[in-house]
Amino acid sequence: METPGSQSSLHRANLERVVRAVRLAGSLTQAEIARTTGLSAATVSNIVRELKDGGTVEVTPTSAGGRRARSVSLSGDAGIVIGVDFGHTHLRVAVGNLAHQVLAEESEPLDVDASSSQGFDRAEQLVNRLIEATGVDRSKVAGVGLGVPGPIDVESGTLGSTAILPGWSGTRPAEELRGRLGVPVHVDNDANLGALGEMVWGSGRGVRDLAYIKVASGVGAGLVISGKIYRGPGGTAGEIGHITLDESGPVCRCGNRGCLETFTAARYVLPLLQPSHGTDLTMESVVRMARDGDPGCRRVIADVGRHIGSGVANLCNLLNPSRVVLGGDLAEAGELVLGPIRESVGRYAIPSAARQLSVLPGALGGRAEVLGALALALSEMGDSTLLDGTATGSLAASTPAFT
Ligand SMILES: [Zn+2]
Repeated sequence: METPGSQSSLHRANLERVVRAVRLAGSLTQAEIARTTGLSAATVSNIVRELKDGGTVEVTPTSAGGRRARSVSLSGDAGIVIGVDFGHTHLRVAVGNLAHQVLAEESEPLDVDASSSQGFDRAEQLVNRLIEATGVDRSKVAGVGLGVPGPIDVESGTLGSTAILPGWSGTRPAEELRGRLGVPVHVDNDANLGALGEMVWGSGRGVRDLAYIKVASGVGAGLVISGKIYRGPGGTAGEIGHITLDESGPVCRCGNRGCLETFTAARYVLPLLQPSHGTDLTMESVVRMARDGDPGCRRVIADVGRHIGSGVANLCNLLNPSRVVLGGDLAEAGELVLGPIRESVGRYAIPSAARQLSVLPGALGGRAEVLGALALALSEMGDSTLLDGTATGSLAASTPAFT
């Protein structure tokens, strides 16, 4: 055993810091690795050379700020991760490598009334089919990230009540899927995964304090504080849909009155348009008509934006995020909804907090959650297999490189 504090254990710790930084970011220049890990440029250079010789990382020439640089990423063939996302009416699966490249991705309609075991059977089949399609050996699967549309109790891994898949509450989704696939499975709710996805691949890149807001059948937020998802002990952090906006407003499914959700979720908003626009409406079609200039749809989208903005102003005062990313179908409305959100933030948030905030549409659309599931699998996997596999030979023989 290595003694803690010995040169070799410090060296090992530095290797892990570099591998972890690259694993989470996808690719980084050596200067960025130094900034992220706090290691000196010389140490990073030595460690990257060693990891490259061991086959753990790949180094490609790039340019940063007009200067030549070296971009470091984990080797594409070092392993794969899998993302599984259960949504309201779909099941989506993506397979990615450790260099953050998506190798295969597919979405299937999901019957909302299907039992959870039917749902997990379908997920197992789709995962197996996509692994086969990539031609990668199953033993290379480092882990699975799983998204579900409801709160996950952090201690027990149990899915709480969900308006979207009511028959699924009380199940343990990670355990279910682990039993079928035989690999580690990490689970989180769809809003948290949307936040992770946008942070790693989309509109939240480079931001450490962020809220991802998804308006669909419910309204939820994924909160990233100091670079980490904040879940709370019961996994219910981010339930922005149940902020009270009007104590004498409509009764909400949570039992309270006038929650944010009752002014913004599809089932409350669409009926407002039914007398004038007919009954065959979806949020998607309302957004499309609003973009085409329909005044009624524009009005409804703007009102939804103002109400979301009130919730965002509360978030802003409590957490002071630097970015809010709007996901879901509503984001397609662009400035028609973002403008009113910013207006409400300007009106209700503390001016200094509002000034630091940018409100952007999500860049990933309906893929945010499944890519977030990939990011979850990447962030939860350890580095021991990477470092103790192909790289061990060179590690054992190497001289300590910390400076
Ligand atoms: Zn409520």
